[in-house]
Amino acid sequence: MIPYGKQDISPADIEAVVQVLQSDYLTQGEQVPLFEHTVAAYCGAQYAVAVNSATSALHIACLALGLGKGGRLWTSPNTFVASANCALFCGATVDFVDIDSRTYNMCVEALEEKLHAAKKTHTLPDIVMPVHFAGQSCDMKRIHELSVEYGFKIIEDASHAIGGKYLGSPIGGGEYSDITVFSFHPVKIVTTGEGGMATTNQQPLAEKMQLLRSHGVTREPHLMTQSSSDLTPLEGAWVYQQVGLGFNYRMTEMQAALGISQMQRLEHFIQIRTKFAKHYNTALIGLPLALPYQTLESDSSFHLYPVLIQTDQISRTRAEVFNALREHGIGVNVHYIPVHTQPYYQKMGFAQGDFPVAEAYYRQTISIPVFHAMTEQDQETVIKVLQQVLV
Ligand SMILES: *Cc1c(COP(=O)(O)O)cnc(C)c1O
Repeated sequence: MIPYGKQDISPADIEAVVQVLQSDYLTQGEQVPLFEHTVAAYCGAQYAVAVNSATSALHIACLALGLGKGGRLWTSPNTFVASANCALFCGATVDFVDIDSRTYNMCVEALEEKLHAAKKTHTLPDIVMPVHFAGQSCDMKRIHELSVEYGFKIIEDASHAIGGKYLGSPIGGGEYSDITVFSFHPVKIVTTGEGGMATTNQQPLAEKMQLLRSHGVTREPHLMTQSSSDLTPLEGAWVYQQVGLGFNYRMTEMQAALGISQMQRLEHFIQIRTKFAKHYNTALIGLPLALPYQTLESDSSFHLYPVLIQTDQISRTRAEVFNALREHGIGVNVHYIPVHTQPYYQKMGFAQGDFPVAEAYYRQTISIPVFHAMTEQDQETVIKVLQQVLV
């Protein structure tokens, strides 16, 4: 089976993890800060906070921005459930903004309309979370302009998009948002097994996220309460204070070492994914498929290559095409079942038909294999099988 995505682990990656296992620190050593520095430097962000998953990063990003009971977060329905769930973790409510039919990202016109309506009813969101679907950046400049006009914060869910660029700069630099979140799950671009990272240029947000990932406990004198920071010199290096309520969302040293090693090959990963995507762009022309559209503003990381099956032109349904591809050894998948159609969200009051563009996209889409470790022969097999089954 050729999967739709898969990690690529090199001998250097393995060596990096083994070295940590033979060292004194499996957690809270030097690797996590080094990994944070590596990602921050790559993205051009001032701060990066590593955690045990992107889901955790989204959660503490929301909390750091003050999301709580009575708060509101808006995201895209075309995403993994974690983008919406993180608001519910905070006791806030979630709503969605339908997607653009060409990019499959949050539609800026739909966002603007919804903001305009929400202003009148005093239900403006506290946070808007654009998701860079498949690795292609959302229209961040426009979303940022709207944030100034309507007064909301922005978290970029860039789980798909490390190594991608927007207006020539790496995603995660934070020019148009407050916090950007990356995922290091094995199907994503760079992996740490499980893992996530939040980048920001705002020191108070970085400090809050550092507290939240580790029990709300600090050893930094300037973060302690006044009285204890006075006491610190009299006491000793053992002094720590819990100044808030946090979690254990820490990343291990093994994960960070793997991440640092993987980051050395990020540019190469993106080059190879781009090469495969470009080849699909030409090799699949003429088949009854809509191919992913690329905006001029963004350079996608090509986490996914979604094709829309033009079922009006063939005798098979999307499900039949999907099953036929799997039977022929192509490990295709579907991204995403719109979040608002999940039973949990339907119970909260969302209904089929609420976000018709995301639903129409979902009915046709199939993600075909694109990953660094795929061979050119694998890709030719995918193309040949697609030609066979699209009848
Ligand atoms: C994978 C993913 C997440 C969650 O990432 P984890 O690291 O598995 O927690 C969140 N949002 C999107 C868009 C994702 O693809």
